[in-house]
Amino acid sequence: MSENVSGPLTAESIAGAAYIVAALLFILSLAGLSRHEKARSGVIYGITGMVIALAATTWLTLQGAWGTGHGLTGLALLAGAVLVGGAIGLWRARVVEMTGMPELIALLHSFVGLAAVLVGWNGHLEVPALSADLMAVHHAEVFIGVFIGAVTFTGSIVAFLKLSARMKSSPLTLPGKNAINLGALAAFIALTVWYVNDSQLWLLIIVTVLALGLGWHLVASIGGGDMPVVVSMLNSYSGWAAAAAGFLLNNDLLIITGALVGSSGAYLSYIMCKAMNRSFISVIAGGFGIAAPSGADTEYGEHREITAQATAEMLSNATSVVITPGYGMAVAQAQYPVAELVHQLRERGVNVRFGIHPVAGRLPGHMNVLLAEAKVPYDIVLEMDEINEDLDGTSVVLVIGANDTVNPSAAEDPSSPIAGMPVLRVWEADNVVVFKRSMAAGYAGVQNPLFFRENSQMLFGDAKQRVEDILRAF
Ligand code: NDP
Repeated sequence: MSENVSGPLTAESIAGAAYIVAALLFILSLAGLSRHEKARSGVIYGITGMVIALAATTWLTLQGAWGTGHGLTGLALLAGAVLVGGAIGLWRARVVEMTGMPELIALLHSFVGLAAVLVGWNGHLEVPALSADLMAVHHAEVFIGVFIGAVTFTGSIVAFLKLSARMKSSPLTLPGKNAINLGALAAFIALTVWYVNDSQLWLLIIVTVLALGLGWHLVASIGGGDMPVVVSMLNSYSGWAAAAAGFLLNNDLLIITGALVGSSGAYLSYIMCKAMNRSFISVIAGGFGIAAPSGADTEYGEHREITAQATAEMLSNATSVVITPGYGMAVAQAQYPVAELVHQLRERGVNVRFGIHPVAGRLPGHMNVLLAEAKVPYDIVLEMDEINEDLDGTSVVLVIGANDTVNPSAAEDPSSPIAGMPVLRVWEADNVVVFKRSMAAGYAGVQNPLFFRENSQMLFGDAKQRVEDILRAF
C-alpha cells in the first residue's frame, strides 16, 4: 500500500493517525460489548472505527491516483470490493436467523483465512526490494501468513458445515490422528526454515496444501459438544491470520485489530474450556488425547409421556418451577409464550426462575438474548452455577428444547463424549417435563438418560405450540 502514495510522509502519517484512532475505537467497542448495558455504545464505537478505517484507506488509495497513475485502478477495485462485500454482508445480516449466527460467523472467519492466504501469495509473487535480513523476515511472514490463513480457511469451512448440519457433528477419529497433527506442525517448521533460506514457489505450494489439510482435520476431529470452543478458537486464528496479513501489507491497523481479535478469541476459548471442564490444549490440538467414544448402545428402558393438560395441572400445584431453555426454544421461537407462562405462574404465587447453561443454544448468551427480547424480568434469569444447588427440592423443572446441557451422562458416565462437562442437574428436581419433538439426541449426538428417569416425562411437539396449549389449559 505504501508504494502507491505520492506524498508519502503526509499521506501515510495522516492515515496512520486515523488508523490509531480507529484501533482505539475498536478497543472501546470490545470494552462496551463485554457488558450488556453498554453493548449498544460498543457497537457504535465499532462502526465509527470501521468508517474511519475505510475512509483512511480510500484516501490513501486516492493519493496514489495523483502519483503513480495506478491509483484510479486501485480505487475502482476498492469501490467494487466494498460494494459487493457490503451488499452481501447487508443481505446476510438481514436474513440470518439468530440460530444461524454461529455458522455465519464460521463462514466469515473462512474469508479472513482466504484473504490471508491470497495476501501471502501476493507477498511471494511481488517481492519488495529489501536488505538480506529484512528479506528473511519477509519470507517468514509470507510462509506463516499462508499457513495460519489456510488452516483458518478450511477449519472454518468444516465448522460451517458442522454447525449447519451439512456434516455430522461427531468427531472424525482417524487412526494416529495426533501423530498426523504433530507431523504436520513439524513439517511446517522445517519447511519455514527452508523457505526463509531459499524461497522456492513449490515450498509455498506444499505448505498451502499441508495447512489446508491440517485445518480440515483439526476441526473435523472435534466433537459436537466442543463446537462452541472451536468457533471462538477459529475467531482467534482469523485474528492472527489478519495480523500476519497486516505485517505483509505494512498496515498497522490490521496488525492491531488482528492481535486484538486473536488474543481475545484465545482468551474466550480458554474461559469456555474452563467453564466446560475441557482441556484447552486438547481442544486447540483437534481433540488431542481424547479417545474415540465407545459407541456402545446402552439400553435405557421406556420413556413416559405427558399431555399439556396434565402439565398445566402439575404446574398449578407447584410451589417452585425452574425453566431450563435450550436450542429448541430458539428454533420454536417459544420465548414469548414462555414469558406469558412465567407471568401467569407468578400471578398464582409460584416461585419461577430460569437456569441458563453457558453453552445453551448456538452462541454464548443466546438464551439471555431471547428472554430479554420477550421481556422476562432479568432478576429471575440465573446462571447454571447459581441455580444448580436449588434444583434439588424444586417442584417442577421445564426443560424447553434443551438436551446436551441437561444430560446426566456428562456427570455420571466417564465414557460419554461429553463426560466432565458441567450440566444443569435437573434430574434432582421432584418432576421434570421435557419439551421436544422426538427422542432424537442433542447437538453432541449423545443419547440423554434423563428422558428415561422415573421423575421425567416427555411433552412431545413444537415447544411454542405445547407452551400455548398449557396456557390454554390454565
Ligand atoms: P441441544 O442442541 O443439545 O438440543 C436441542 C433440542 O431441542 C434437540 O434435542 C431437539 O430435539 C429440540 N428441538 C429442536 N427444535 C425444537 C422445537 N421446535 N420444539 C421443541 N424442541 C425442539 O440443545 P442445548 O441448548 O441443550 O445444547 C447446546 C448444544 O449446542 C451443546 O452441545 C453445545 O456444546 C452446542 N453448541 C453451543 C454453542 C454455543 O455457543 N452456545 C455453539 C455451537 C454448539 P427434537 O429434534 O427431538 O425436537
